[in-house]
Amino acid sequence: MGLFSKDIKTFEDLYKHGLQDIYYAENQIVKSLPTMIDNASDAELKRGLQQHLRETKEQVKRLEQVFKLHDETPSGTKCPAIDGIIDEGSDLIGEVEDKAVLNVGLIAAAQAVEHYEITRYGALIAWARELGHDKDAAILARNLSEERATDKKLTVLAERRVNPRPATGNATQARRPKAAASRRTAATRRKPAQKKQRKKSARRS
Ligand code: FE
Ligand code: FE
Ligand code: FE
Repeated sequence: MGLFSKDIKTFEDLYKHGLQDIYYAENQIVKSLPTMIDNASDAELKRGLQQHLRETKEQVKRLEQVFKLHDETPSGTKCPAIDGIIDEGSDLIGEVEDKAVLNVGLIAAAQAVEHYEITRYGALIAWARELGHDKDAAILARNLSEERATDKKLTVLAERRVNPRPATGNATQARRPKAAASRRTAATRRKPAQKKQRKKSARRS
């Protein structure tokens, strides 16, 4: 950003800035996923992250198509948010001793990344439509749907108890007959919206 002038002047500029932000973020994610994959000891989590790494590389290419639609060279602009989320995940890898506990932490760290991406793509798609860039919106929507699917898969993994039972948990809680509630930890607590959706799908089946 210039010292005496502001670089983002129009809505279109803001949109382009957002594209550069997510382009930077996706590239950082491509760089950081291999470390997460190496440190995931649960086979399904590892496979899920590997699949998302392949998807993320395609997402970068899709963003490059969007830049191309505007005759622009793909470029990124530093996104402090994704850098922070990724740093927090790498710190965790150095801090957690138990491998099973680390799997739990890695799921949450990966979901933090997905949630950031979901907010960004959500805004960018809305902006693209408003600005009349329907082709962009269609391409971006493909990335968004992959982020959402990944987030859902991670939730399923968390709930399937990749999460270990606490070794020295609260004895009263452990003895409670309705174990479901006591087994649920902060890491796997569902958001109200997700709960609603589960109820809906339960009704359907
Ligand atoms: Fe992505
Ligand atoms: Fe950002
Ligand atoms: Fe993602």
